[in-house]
Amino acid sequence: MNKPLAIITGAGSGIGRATSIKFHENGYQVACLDLNLETAKETAEMISNEGKAYQVDVINHEEIKKISEIILKEFSNPDVLVNCAGISPSPMPVHLFEVDEWNRVININLNGSFYMMKYFIPSLLKNTNSSIVNISSVLGVVANPTTAGYAASKHGIVGLTKAAALDYAKQGLRVNCVGPGVIETNMNKDILKDIRIKEMLTNQTPLGRVAAPSEVANLIYFLCSDKATFITGSFFAVDGGYTAV
Ligand code: NAP
Repeated sequence: MNKPLAIITGAGSGIGRATSIKFHENGYQVACLDLNLETAKETAEMISNEGKAYQVDVINHEEIKKISEIILKEFSNPDVLVNCAGISPSPMPVHLFEVDEWNRVININLNGSFYMMKYFIPSLLKNTNSSIVNISSVLGVVANPTTAGYAASKHGIVGLTKAAALDYAKQGLRVNCVGPGVIETNMNKDILKDIRIKEMLTNQTPLGRVAAPSEVANLIYFLCSDKATFITGSFFAVDGGYTAV
């Protein structure tokens, strides 16, 4: 029997890489999609080449359509889609946000997840018990000053997730999203280098530390597993208590 297939964007780094490894450890083949083909290939090598790396820019819906057709030919219908690709813009109050930068954040973080869902849902629906996990953020349910672009995109992910969960519930496709707190990845490696900022962020986190990407991957895997068969349309924080304060 064929191994199940997980499609993971942002697979070349951070949470996407840790998630690729987690699914591989649990018997999946993984299609590792990233803007950076080299890092996606590194991830594919880390999982013994059980899967394949693909270069894709999630803002390019035509490219995603093509890749979805290629993956369907090279593998089979996917069981899991995890949308991890994302960026975090420089902190900026709303009136100083450049229009192009605003559109870039919304395009990658929100529209990118929509495009992936649009083109992969038809094949996900061909498998029973298939599942989608979108990566939102704690800033998908709360906000901080100067985070408007990121917070808008991540709040959007929560709405997209809920609506899609309702669209496909009758067909057995579950759709959830996770909201990480501060995770040590390339996305925030520069700010975490600053000891004062790191201290401020850990102080805002009741568990008093930042987390490893594997701690987010554990939740994502759980949500796609047969331990989570009654869970759909939900947001789950993985934030050390950040949003409980
Ligand atoms: P990361 O290490 O920077 O990984 C993000 C990955 O997405 C990178 O491999 C990046 O490729 C890729 N990517 C960026 N733009 C893309 C595009 N247009 N098309 C395809 N791939 C693209 O960051 P991470 O922390 O793992 O982030 C993963 C997700 O978690 C993001 O959605 C982020 O918003 C969310 N998140 C992270 C944190 C945190 O504290 N780290 C907290 C809350 C939510 P390049 O390396 O080539 O740019």
